This record gives sequence, C-alpha cells and structure tokens, in this order.
Amino acid sequence: MLPKTVVSGFEPIVGQTFPIGILKRFLRRAAVPHAMLFTGIEGIGKRTTARVMAMALNCREGTKSVGEGPSGAFDQPCRRCPLCRQIEAGKHPDVIEIAPRKGILRIDQVRELLASLAMKPFSATHRVVIIDDAHQLNPEAGNALLKVLEEPPQGTILVLTASQRSGLLATIVSRCRHIPFNPLAAEDIAGLLADTQGLDHILSKTLAKAAGGSYTKALQLATGKWHQRRNWLIRASGLDRIDPHGPLTSTLALAFSAELAQSKAQIDDDLETLKSWVRDLSVWPYKATHIVHADRKETLAQVSEQLSDGQLTVIWEALEKAQKDIAGNANLRLTLDNMALRMACLRAA
Ligand SMILES: [Zn+2]
Repeated sequence: MLPKTVVSGFEPIVGQTFPIGILKRFLRRAAVPHAMLFTGIEGIGKRTTARVMAMALNCREGTKSVGEGPSGAFDQPCRRCPLCRQIEAGKHPDVIEIAPRKGILRIDQVRELLASLAMKPFSATHRVVIIDDAHQLNPEAGNALLKVLEEPPQGTILVLTASQRSGLLATIVSRCRHIPFNPLAAEDIAGLLADTQGLDHILSKTLAKAAGGSYTKALQLATGKWHQRRNWLIRASGLDRIDPHGPLTSTLALAFSAELAQSKAQIDDDLETLKSWVRDLSVWPYKATHIVHADRKETLAQVSEQLSDGQLTVIWEALEKAQKDIAGNANLRLTLDNMALRMACLRAA
C-alpha cells in the first residue's frame, strides 16, 4: 500500500519483502514470466505491486536496488516520468486492468481483452494485463483465457490476483508462476494509518488488528468510524457492563435487537465485531497481548473477570447461530430477538 509521499520503485509497498524480492530478481535478470498469479487476502498491495511491475518493465529512467552491482537490468521504476504516472493513475492504454462486475468475471470481458491483445501495443515495450480477483472468473471465462495464458502475444505479461490458489481452475494455476503475498503485520498497518489518517497509535493498532492484515479493510474501518459503532454494540448488548447488578434486562435486550435490525446491510459486520469482542474477553486472562480491542483494555479487564469461559462460549454460540441463520435467510428480527434474549438470560442467571 502506498502512503502519500511516493519514493521510487517498490519501496513504498509495505510488508511484502518476499514477493517483491522475487519480482525484482525477475526484472534484474530480464526474465519476467509471461503469466503470474499473485495470491493473498484483499487489501495488501497485490494490484499496486502489479502496477509498479508494469512501470518497471516500461520506465526508461529507473534505477537499480542498492547493492545489486553493475550487472543486470534495473529493478526500480522512477515513478515520476509521464509513463510511470500514467500507469499509476490506471490510464496507460497498454496496461489493461479487468475486474469482476457484480462479483463475476464474465466471458464477454475476456473476449474484449483477447480482442485488444490481438492488436499491436500503443507505445509500451511491455504490455501488462492485470486480472483482478481471478477467483471470480466463471468457468467459461476461465477456459477462454487458457490459450493466452499459455502463449501470450510477444511482449505481453499477464498478472492475475486472487485470494488463494484453490479458488481457481487448476489449468489456470498450472500456467502461472505463483507469487504469494503476506497479510500485513498489524504494526505496519497501524503505522500507515497513523501517517495517512492522523489517528492515534492505540486506535490505529486496534483498527489494524480488526482488519486482519488488510490495509484496505483497515482504511474502510477507520473512515467508517468502526470504533464508534463497536462502542455502541458492546454497550447496547450489555457486553461492556462492569456493574454486577446491571445485566441486560429482557426489555433492554429487545431494544438492542430492534436497533440492530435497522441496519440489515451491516448486520454481518456487527456480529463479527461482537464476536471479536467476546473472543478478546476470553483471551484476556491468558494472552492479553493477543487482543484486537487494545483501545478498550480497561473494560476488557473488568468484564472478563465477571464472565466464565462457559458463559462466553454460550454468548459466542448465540452470535454465531444468528449469523448463520441470517445468512440462510431466516427472519431477521426474530433471529436477533432470540440472540439478544439468549445473551441477556445468561448474564442474568
Ligand atoms: Zn518512470
């Protein structure tokens, strides 16, 4: 992921030393495979890296990494020349990107791509095709792509990105060089969030952990004020109660589920957030360094003392059951009412 101040080459992409090391070696040896598959969770820099790769293949003002000696081609694009900037902005005609429409990569998108590949490149020495979320290729589209993956036109390099190899046709995987990307370390994401969003360190770290190693997700959480919603969720569900006489009454539990049911689109995320809070409550006494909600340590410490592992398991199961039932199209309000009452009964007992 790229912070605002751009330096040259791959340097601003954080936390991907291993895959970038492999790609730079390809560049220095002028032996870039014609089909590559970048795998890893969403939001860790796969597409950005593919674009920088396209710059590196075409930029004429690049440099070599320090310590690489006189031999070999350069492996660091300048990122300042008009060509690099055009690619960075996604506006170079020879760097073609396709992405799923409504969650599917369709045959007509692949046909359109094949038609443009049949023509000569506009200006680039290396044409680069980036196929995002290739695990969303439907079988027909995937099959249509096989021939060009096997034998792309001269000077054309294809980069497929996907969450994991297993979601792809085996015939696609076998034609690509596999480059695995890592989830980002929470510290790296927290640093980027603090730099680009001006958030304090503990909140940045909490958002980074809640995002599970994806910078894009962490950024969404930060801009969507995830922590405020989280604070409301744990308060309204009674899971932040530190008063032993104040467990949730049935009335309050039903008020909570009624409010929760108002935001149907958000319900899965809300339940995930509550589950991560319950997980923190159970982890706290044993491994306090492994928690997500580092910005609410005091509450975690106090509440975890009042709830047994058995009670936490029941709460967890109530949340998970609701999540599954809702995914299976059960009545939303009824499901949430049952869930909230189950959690309240347990606390009152
Ligand atoms: Zn350049």
